[in-house]
Amino acid sequence: MKRRLFVKNISLAIPATMLLPGLLTSCKKDKLSDTDWAGKIIIIGAGAAGLYAGHLISQYAPNAQLQILEASNQRGGRVRELSGFADFPIELGAEEVHGNKSSWYDIVKNASGVNFVNDNNTTDYYVIDNLLKSEDDLTADTDVIAGNVFVEQASNYNGADQSVKAKADADNLSQRIRPFVNAQTGNEYGTDYSILSIKGITEEDQLWTAGDDNYAVANRSYISIMQEAFADAWDKVLLNTQVKKIDYTSSTIVLTDQNNQTYTCDKLIITIPLAVLKAGDVEFVPVLPASKTDAIANIGMGPGMKIILKFNNRFWANDLGSLYGSGNVPEIWYPSLGRGNTQLLTCFVMGNKAATLSALGNSAKQSILAELDDAFGNNAATSSFVDARIMDWGKEPFIKGAYSFPTVGGGISKRQALAASLNNNIFFAGEATHTEGHSGTVHGAVETGYRAVEEFIESVD
Ligand SMILES: Cc1cc2nc3c(=O)[nH]c(=O)nc-3n(C[C@H](O)[C@H](O)[C@H](O)COP(=O)(O)OP(=O)(O)OC[C@H]3O[C@@H](n4cnc5c(N)ncnc54)[C@H](O)[C@@H]3O)c2cc1C
Repeated sequence: MKRRLFVKNISLAIPATMLLPGLLTSCKKDKLSDTDWAGKIIIIGAGAAGLYAGHLISQYAPNAQLQILEASNQRGGRVRELSGFADFPIELGAEEVHGNKSSWYDIVKNASGVNFVNDNNTTDYYVIDNLLKSEDDLTADTDVIAGNVFVEQASNYNGADQSVKAKADADNLSQRIRPFVNAQTGNEYGTDYSILSIKGITEEDQLWTAGDDNYAVANRSYISIMQEAFADAWDKVLLNTQVKKIDYTSSTIVLTDQNNQTYTCDKLIITIPLAVLKAGDVEFVPVLPASKTDAIANIGMGPGMKIILKFNNRFWANDLGSLYGSGNVPEIWYPSLGRGNTQLLTCFVMGNKAATLSALGNSAKQSILAELDDAFGNNAATSSFVDARIMDWGKEPFIKGAYSFPTVGGGISKRQALAASLNNNIFFAGEATHTEGHSGTVHGAVETGYRAVEEFIESVD
């Protein structure tokens, strides 16, 4: 995910005065207050939100009895490293830190030995009219210019709610550039532009305060950084523990896992991914209030994949940033830039196209190689292909999708309902509960962990 990448491309076409005011402010929060509360608190989920919340509880409520229950056999959730595939750590989930005004940016920057790379000096390429063109080749293409303006305006919209595609149809945007508009809106937000709300992305973008630059880490994985920064929460995690039932009938909350083992607590933080809640994999007793079930139903989260391809030869340009295709892969990038010598391409596929590739299973890679052969000619991709890793997030049993996005009618007010605490003892965190524009990101997940701990401390003070 390269959120806000288009700002770089569009700066030639859009006057500076149209850039959004929200981008300029910082989101740093005041310090939490300490508490000597000594009750029992459980966090469900050891992703970014859960681990950060656990870290804060260890710091600010040191007498609390803390336990983190994690369904899978690893920590990190949608932060996951692929090691041993290249001469640098590969991120199968979150890859970039979006902006430099967040606690997550500070955590990554302050981790030992971190070198950042950013993609400011790269060139984007497009497959258009079945030809491969660089952004420089397209500066006079009026359809491309109209597409760029449309994408920028999509986060500055104040009409009635509709999908991004419906607005593109209404604006008569050329079909030639629709794949790129989808790539930079729908795919970017973890879905397809036909179901992404244009009002929703405007709302989120105007609240965005994290800054515009994207950073990737050259030499360390995010999971290793989380282990270092959240060391005090790391050992509190019980792996392979899937919470199946949450009974909050009385003030002592009772959780039941897949082996019918029970856990009790006075306070609970839930960071379960939205798609898992949508699937009804966790039973709540009593059932959740209608405002929550409505929010769970109306905020979007669907299929998403990263496919990492390894080659023995670089057949693409040295400066390739992103390649926007017209087939099943909306966006491909060159993750090795500034990091290592292994020749890799990362395919980033969300929504309907991810569903299509997911259904192909292992042969998804042949389909992608064929697309690359068409774009570069001379059988370039197939003849230099070495290996692939397919990370299909929709098929992960405890994640079930990529990240949350606004559907038509599923904007910030739904996120507020999802984030609202229950009975002053159950608190909701996780990226989908971010109510200030940073959903779908690691820094957003971290910020919800902060908010949930703030709510917990207020509830015991
Ligand atoms: C392909 C991809 C690319 C991305 N790129 C970026 C990027 O470049 N930059 C960025 O900032 N963000 C990116 N994101 C988004 C980012 O990864 C997420 O927003 C963030 O990691 C979510 O953290 P979380 O704690 O909310 O949820 P998660 O990380 O999903 O953690 C939730 C945890 O809950 C566990 N769980 C689920 N059900 C149960 C249960 N019943 N009992 C116990 N445990 C349970 C899960 O196993 C999981 O570990 C990307 C995501 C994907 C999928």
